[in-house]
Amino acid sequence: MNLGFIGLGNMGNPMAVNLIKAGHKVTVHDLRRESGTNLLEMGADWADTPKDTVPGNEVVFTSLPGPREVDAVVLGEDGVLQGAGKGSIYVDLSTNSPNAIRRVHQICAEKGVAVMDAPVSGGVTGAAAGTLALMVGGDQAVFDRIRPALGAMGSHVVYCGAIGAGMIVKLCNNLVSMGNGVLLAEALTLGVKAGVDLAVLSDVMSNSSGASYRLTNSFCNSLFKGNTAPGFATALAAKDVRLATDLGRELGVPMDLSNLVDQRHVEALFRGWGAFDSVVVAYLQEEKAGVQLRIPGL
Ligand code: NAD
Repeated sequence: MNLGFIGLGNMGNPMAVNLIKAGHKVTVHDLRRESGTNLLEMGADWADTPKDTVPGNEVVFTSLPGPREVDAVVLGEDGVLQGAGKGSIYVDLSTNSPNAIRRVHQICAEKGVAVMDAPVSGGVTGAAAGTLALMVGGDQAVFDRIRPALGAMGSHVVYCGAIGAGMIVKLCNNLVSMGNGVLLAEALTLGVKAGVDLAVLSDVMSNSSGASYRLTNSFCNSLFKGNTAPGFATALAAKDVRLATDLGRELGVPMDLSNLVDQRHVEALFRGWGAFDSVVVAYLQEEKAGVQLRIPGL
C-alpha cells in the first residue's frame, strides 16, 4: 500500500521501518526532520507538512504524543484534513482521548474521510520487533482494508468496536501498567528493607502470581539497571493515567486508587522528570523508603 506516517519518535520510527520492510511505500513527516533520516535511507519520501503526506496515499498514520498534537496535525493549518478527501483513511496510533478521536472522526466524516483509532502496546522493543498489540476502533470494513498495514506493525491486532473503543482499551491497559509500577515500587522497597536481595524478589515474583509486564520488562530492563532513557517517557505515562481518570470522572466511575497513581505521576512531573523513562516514578518511593531498587551487574 502507499502510506503516510507522521510522528517518527520512539514508537513511530520503528513502526514506519516495519511498514517499509513489509513492502509498503511510505511518506514520512515529523517536526524534526532528523528523526526520519534512517527511513529516508530505506526509501521513504519526506513530506514538509502533514497535508503533504496525503496525496497518492491510501492511509495516513500518526504516532504523536497526545490529543493536542493530534488535533494540530489533523485539523490544523496544513493538516492532514486539508489534503484529504472522500475515500481517504486516517489512523491514529497515538494514545489519545476517546472523546478527542471521536471529535476528529466527526469533523473528518463531513469531508468523507474515514478515521480509525489504533493505539499500540508493547513498547519500543515491540515496535522494533513488529510484535505490538494494536487495539482498533472504527468502521469494521475500513479495519479489514487496512489490516495488512496494521499487521506489519503488530502481531496482536484486535478490532475493539466503534471509533474510540481502541483508545478506551488502551487507557484501561496503561492504567493497570502504571498502577502496577507504583504498587511494585512499594512491595519491592518493603522486601529489600526487610532484608531480602532485590534479584531474589524479582526472580520469584516474575515467576509467581505477582508477575507483570511492568516487572519483567520495564523494571528489569530499566529501573533495576539505573537506566532512565525513554522508552516510555514519564510525561506520556502521566498523560495516559490522566486520560483514564478523566474518563472515570466523566462517566461517574469511582477510581480511588487510580487517582493516587495519577498524583504520583504528577509529582514526578513536578520534579522535572517528564523526559525520563516512566520507571523514574519509582524513585519517589525509593526516596521515601530510603531504599534503592538496583541490581548490580544486571
Ligand atoms: P515520542 O515523543 O518519542 O515521539 C513523538 C514524535 O512526534 C516526535 O518525534 C515528535 O517530534 C513528533 N511530533 C510532535 N508534535 C508534532 C507535530 N505537531 N507535527 C509532527 N510531529 C510531531 O513519543 P513515543 O514514545 O514515540 O509515543 C508516541 C505515542 O505512542 C504516544 O501517544 C504514546 O503515549 C504512545 N505509546 C508509547 C509507547 C512507548 O513505549 N514509548 C508505547 C505505547 C504507546
